[in-house]
Amino acid sequence: MIRAFVTGHPIAHSRSPLIHGHWLAEHGISGSYERIDVPPADFPAFLRGLPGSGFAGGNVTIPHKEAAFALADTLTDRAQRIGAVNTLVVGGDGRVHGDNTDAPGFCAHLDQSLGPAWPQRGEAVILGAGGAARAIVVGLAERGVARIRVANRTPARAEAVAALAPGIAQPLAWDDLPAALEGAGLLVNTTSLGMKGQPALDIDLAPLPAGAAVADIVYAPLETDLLAAARRRGLAAVDGLGMLLHQAVPGFAAWFGTRPEVTERLRDLIVADLRP
Ligand code: NAP
Repeated sequence: MIRAFVTGHPIAHSRSPLIHGHWLAEHGISGSYERIDVPPADFPAFLRGLPGSGFAGGNVTIPHKEAAFALADTLTDRAQRIGAVNTLVVGGDGRVHGDNTDAPGFCAHLDQSLGPAWPQRGEAVILGAGGAARAIVVGLAERGVARIRVANRTPARAEAVAALAPGIAQPLAWDDLPAALEGAGLLVNTTSLGMKGQPALDIDLAPLPAGAAVADIVYAPLETDLLAAARRRGLAAVDGLGMLLHQAVPGFAAWFGTRPEVTERLRDLIVADLRP
């Protein structure tokens, strides 16, 4: 039996076991995918102990993504650029390989929602400069988005994220958002604003052009106020659940040897679980 895991601290809320459990059943694979709560102080020993543990690998979430980056034996180019690892694969050579699948996961969801020509919609404006923003800026630049602007409450972090895509991404002052939106083809919220229990994201979408799309990576609630405002304006709205589902695909393929699909059935399963 092939075994994989998701580790974080806390980890009880993670929907990853539902996603991978669905794919294991769908493909008739004899495997398991389990939650493992690892406090930060124990994470280095956990990662070092993976070879020989019986695990083929696993996912890493808050707060271990940077530690996994620092401790993995090898890194994909993408993980190297982003500075964080969310997927670990234990190689036959006994080494632990680190990847970051948040970037391709976000882009795959845009492909599915908007069609593959979305990078040509025009400039992207990113709200937030945390770990998710780092992955998304790298992903958008890889996919050929010509100009990216990053606005964040803490300007220094916006500068650091923009530096991940030199010549393409630039920091943007929050006060300059209305003017920047006038020329944007894609607006992405990567802050935790709008999430259940967090303050609202207060932003006026009026300046966005009619052809712009709005994506929110917050998925609890699934229909955030930002997405509802985008729909009211007649703009394409892309929810945060697709990123969560698509980022899981490369890990499952690496551990269990089958590339799974993100289907409506899987989505419905997670939507039902997200309902209060
Ligand atoms: P993070 O590294 O902690 O970054 C949080 C971001 O939100 C920072 O830019 C922070 O600004 C901003 N922020 C937080 N509170 C704020 C406030 N009151 N006012 C203004 N800005 C505020 O978190 P992350 O890992 O990037 O995750 C961000 C969000 O994305 C979370 O809601 C997470 O659940 C979601 N997410 C979704 C997926 C998915 O698959 N859909 C994947 C990853 C993350 P400062 O820099 O100024 O603190």
